[in-house]
Amino acid sequence: LTVEISYMTAAQRTRPWLDSSLPTAARVDALLAEMTLAEKVGQTHQVANIHPHDDAAQLAQGRIGSSLFASGATGGNERDEGVLAANIDEAQRHAVEESRLGIPVLFGRDVIHGHRTVCPIPLGLAASWDEDLLEEVARVAASEAVVDGVAWTFAPMVDISEEPRWGRVAESLGETPVLSGRLAAALVRGFQGVDPGDPDRIAACVKHFAGYGLSAGGRDYDTVSVGENTLRNLHLRPFRSAVQAGVRTVMAAFNDVDGIPMHAHRHLLRDVLKGEWGFDGVVVADWNGIGQLVNQGVAADLRDAARQGIEAGVDLDMCSGSYAAHLADLVESGEVDVALVDDAVRRILGLKFELGLFERPYVGDPGRSNAPTPQSRVVALRAAQAAHVLVANNGVLPLDPSSGTVHLTGPYAEAGEELLGTWTLDGRGEDVVAPATAFRKRLGEERLLVTDGRFSDRAVQQVRNADVTVAVVGEHPWRSGEANSVTDIGLPAGQIEYVQQLARIGKPLVVVVYTGRPLELGPVLDAADAVLVVWHPGVEAGNALASVVFGDVSPHGRLPMTFPLTTGHIPTSTHQRPTGRLIEHDEDDRLGRYLDDLVFARLPFGHGLSYTTFAYGDLRAAGSIELAREGGSVEVEVDVTNTGERPGRETVQLSFRDLVAEVTRPLTELLDWAHLDLAPGEKGTARFTVRAEQLSYFGRDNRERIDVGDVVLTAGPDALHGSSLAIAVTG
Ligand code: BGC
Repeated sequence: LTVEISYMTAAQRTRPWLDSSLPTAARVDALLAEMTLAEKVGQTHQVANIHPHDDAAQLAQGRIGSSLFASGATGGNERDEGVLAANIDEAQRHAVEESRLGIPVLFGRDVIHGHRTVCPIPLGLAASWDEDLLEEVARVAASEAVVDGVAWTFAPMVDISEEPRWGRVAESLGETPVLSGRLAAALVRGFQGVDPGDPDRIAACVKHFAGYGLSAGGRDYDTVSVGENTLRNLHLRPFRSAVQAGVRTVMAAFNDVDGIPMHAHRHLLRDVLKGEWGFDGVVVADWNGIGQLVNQGVAADLRDAARQGIEAGVDLDMCSGSYAAHLADLVESGEVDVALVDDAVRRILGLKFELGLFERPYVGDPGRSNAPTPQSRVVALRAAQAAHVLVANNGVLPLDPSSGTVHLTGPYAEAGEELLGTWTLDGRGEDVVAPATAFRKRLGEERLLVTDGRFSDRAVQQVRNADVTVAVVGEHPWRSGEANSVTDIGLPAGQIEYVQQLARIGKPLVVVVYTGRPLELGPVLDAADAVLVVWHPGVEAGNALASVVFGDVSPHGRLPMTFPLTTGHIPTSTHQRPTGRLIEHDEDDRLGRYLDDLVFARLPFGHGLSYTTFAYGDLRAAGSIELAREGGSVEVEVDVTNTGERPGRETVQLSFRDLVAEVTRPLTELLDWAHLDLAPGEKGTARFTVRAEQLSYFGRDNRERIDVGDVVLTAGPDALHGSSLAIAVTG
């Protein structure tokens, strides 16, 4: 505190940009006017894992604007409390106190689904369909991350994810623009906060702009062939939602789009993102993304790559070093207009001012811990429970906690760190409540038998000794996430056989699937009495599972991605557009074009059961069924009754189909959703306001438009079922 005050008062006299009462733009102008070209270039240079000693001279010369910390950042011990923060403060001191202008360094780290209190992977968070919950998850993550000196996270990822072979679907919010976009906006609000004076907030980064989810064959980093119309109607939309929610940074994607690498994609970055959408924050490269322009064969060397990157609108160079090495020379030789560099620096400085880095450059309270607390665990537990998707149940669930013996088996029965999921740089295995731990707490040692499934004979014996078997199977987190694509979305080797072996004995069998992606679940669905898809749920994994299995809460998660029947059915887009021969979607023959397998989706987008049952009435209009193209809206509603014996939450999904448009439009597309919490026998009404602008699309000229004509709305429990109502858009 003493350091901060003396620094502020001494400096403020000669440095008008330190006056926090001035608007950000004025502060940026004042500072930019003082900067040399070398100092400007320094701001565009982000290094990996800054080293306070080795990088001291560069910092003191104002040549490093930002650093990200990847895993093993401080030689592997940064997970020890305080180590990362001390490292950051030491580096920051060189920049703030020794450099000519004292510009603080911006420190980033991938805080993707929780920091120390790890919550479910993003795909699991998306299964909650709960914006308030995601906002809270991000708020907790931000408050823990600042303790380690992190001012910026590289999340949320909103790449439309229709390709389960691609490992990065685990990091996504699913396959639809409306769900992804709204959940991303909630995460942005949570990370960034709303009160500028709140020190517990960090900048968010929506990524990877754009089309990354379309990497050929689901192979990570591969090329992308997509036209601008599909990009605009599908893939760009969640990015636009995040920008509208005020996200401060956007990360460029590794892939090309129809031949143009995104780090050189002037049209999408400058014309669309910064132009049309008015994005005034920072575009950051992905890891060495500018350097990779050379590998991609569109740049002759790093200098050429730097020129293309800055011209395209990439403001901050992550780790390639190309801006630091060549930007000044490119400006001095007249090849790059200094205005481009100024624009990038303005954006970066603006971000630093808005984050309060000039007022609070140091981490602060060294005694503060960010270990999970009872309060943060409550959020993690709620998030993990909400991620549980019950995909099948013949009535075996919930189990009665007061009687019977349970056999818990499988490779994840005693798991810790494995249940945190991909991208958990700061999560710790010892913070995880394993399934066996939580079950033991419920049942005591006497009524619980635990086997890890490695010695199947013993496990099979225990099935006979127990009243019910709960098998915890699925993917290890290293099998999903970045660079972890697979050719086969079946369960890992041996697990199907194991489940089938357990089933053959004839005792009730519940299968719990930990996964980072949609898996081929057919054989498990055939063998088991109930199946729960729980993703990688985080520190509260065991407690959440026990609370669902023993019926404290009724599961209410919904699949944010389609689960294809087999790998061969990929792609299985919810946004299938009509063909000349396929004009209706039909569950049994939706894409009946494979001779050997006629069923389209084993588990459709939006699917998820509860411990109770719900009956839907017909979708009806609450007033007129006509809405004016300019600013009109209609109200529609549907009654839902809890027809079972337990309370439960139903997620009513409203989708639409535009019958005649300039371009082929999806057979069904999610428009909105509503949660209804209903007691047994209770009837509730889900009400939706459909505004004309929600029905807009990009036409043949790639301009946004709303057509006059009929639109069919459907309300139901998933993407393939429901009752429909036609409404009319009028001129
Ligand atoms: C990933 C990004 C990530 C970055 C920094 C890259 O490899 O594609 O999503 O934010 O690394 O860790």
